[in-house]
Amino acid sequence: MNYDTYGSNAVELAIDLANADRDDPKWVREFLDAHVEWFTAGTALELEPADAGSVAQTASLVRDVALAENGADVMARLNELLALASPKPYATDHDGELHLHYARPDAGAVEQLTTTVAMGLSQVVVQHGWQRLGVCSAEGCGNVYVDTSRNASRRYCSNTCASRSTVAAYRARQRA
Ligand SMILES: [Zn+2]
Ligand SMILES: [Zn+2]
Repeated sequence: MNYDTYGSNAVELAIDLANADRDDPKWVREFLDAHVEWFTAGTALELEPADAGSVAQTASLVRDVALAENGADVMARLNELLALASPKPYATDHDGELHLHYARPDAGAVEQLTTTVAMGLSQVVVQHGWQRLGVCSAEGCGNVYVDTSRNASRRYCSNTCASRSTVAAYRARQRA
């Protein structure tokens, strides 16, 4: 399948956010630092606790969309996520290639993140189908993923989970 570059990258940002480990209270700051290339240069990444709560809400909504099991649920959850977005698209070539950004360049970190994630995820669902989103089949994982394989055959969030499951299945066959 052929993803639009920015849209496909933005959906990866959404997936990363949904899978972020939220146990550490500093997780939001760490997530923002790890994805700093998504924010306009100079955006303040130090957030108030309420802002951190909004980021957690966005993360949960992305996960809810990926876990939805029918089109009606997907649409309802996508709309909940989109309601948090403040799209203000503009064209840019800051990386040498003309593409669209979804959020105002001068918006705060939370608005940039929520808007980019909501728009990126919706774009992929609308263009390629919600069946492209899934939850990892590896035992005890639970991460969500977007399937960009040509024949939509992906079942795991990562190569690590895929090979872990292959080994586990092999051992189970040996025991049988
Ligand atoms: Zn860009
Ligand atoms: Zn996994």
